[in-house]
Amino acid sequence: MTTGIIRCEGNGAGETGAISAAGPSPRVVEMPVRKEVDEGALTARIFNIQRFSTEDGPGIRTTVFLKGCPLSCPWCSNPESQAGNTEVAHSDSLCDHCNRCVEVCDRQAISLNPAGGVHINRDACDNCAKCVPVCGTGALRMIGDEYTLDQVYEEIKKDAAYYRNSNGGVTCSGGEPLSHARFVAALFKRCQAAGMHTTLDTCGSAPRRAVERVIEHTDLVLFDFKIFDPARHSAIVGAPLQQILDNAKYIVSKGVRLIARMPLIPGYTDSDENVSALASFIRALGGYIPVNVLPYHRFGMNKYQMLDRSYGPGDAKPPSAERVESVVDRIRSFGLECEIVT
Ligand code: SF4
Ligand code: SF4
Repeated sequence: MTTGIIRCEGNGAGETGAISAAGPSPRVVEMPVRKEVDEGALTARIFNIQRFSTEDGPGIRTTVFLKGCPLSCPWCSNPESQAGNTEVAHSDSLCDHCNRCVEVCDRQAISLNPAGGVHINRDACDNCAKCVPVCGTGALRMIGDEYTLDQVYEEIKKDAAYYRNSNGGVTCSGGEPLSHARFVAALFKRCQAAGMHTTLDTCGSAPRRAVERVIEHTDLVLFDFKIFDPARHSAIVGAPLQQILDNAKYIVSKGVRLIARMPLIPGYTDSDENVSALASFIRALGGYIPVNVLPYHRFGMNKYQMLDRSYGPGDAKPPSAERVESVVDRIRSFGLECEIVT
């Protein structure tokens, strides 16, 4: 439902209804009304719909990756998820230096890189997409498409039998799905009505209303925690910590199942102090909240080059198996269940 406006004739004295022929001239007043909205026509910008996903919740799932995130984690393995807008990306290994994209760009935003591939000046580029169709090799592509809820649901329901047989379902991830709360809530509502399990993969940085709206139709929340020092959190990921912690408490208070996850990023989240702060917070939440430790990997690194962005962790190496085990032991020492998820 949404609020709309209906134009009514009034008698000039702030009333509506029948107009007396003898009374003052009728005038048009605007009255709010509620009208039905076709939820299937709701849209969101999505950069991937991954079928047969096994890492984003139980069983076999379809994961919908929504574009746009309020955080800017410098290690993000999906940097293409962070900006809310559609953006051009380049795969330099496919580029044959034909120069066609340079010629077609009105903004002189794209240039050949002597080392191979192209460089896009992101301050000049307006993501107009004119360069993409002239590239014959597939080296250029736009990331992010507008989907209706009906279109996403059609994709999801193709694998309904797999969800049933594996106790799987649908996951909304990102980016930050709570940035598209209305869309995700309506999608989850429809999925649950069809008997599909719903999982929200979130960083928790969202207004409370968005959280309320979505968790009403959510079976499981995968809640990512990063940095527990408020000043470092704001400085590194660009958003306040407190709202995230408050939202985690709220979700638990509503009885929605939650799994806490911490990416173990060298130099950012992997200190003993930070790990203990996570464990202490989760312990204080009470109830059964398992913790997943996600060791750092470098799989998303090449995407930074595709987007002409620098990669925060630089040359940092993934943590050793011994270090990951010691983090798991530390979390377990708080009486929590903890496992490594790769
Ligand atoms: S998207 Fe448009 S502005 Fe950006 S590099 Fe391509 S043609 Fe130029
Ligand atoms: S049009 Fe494609 S292949 Fe040609 S220079 Fe541009 S990115 Fe490379």
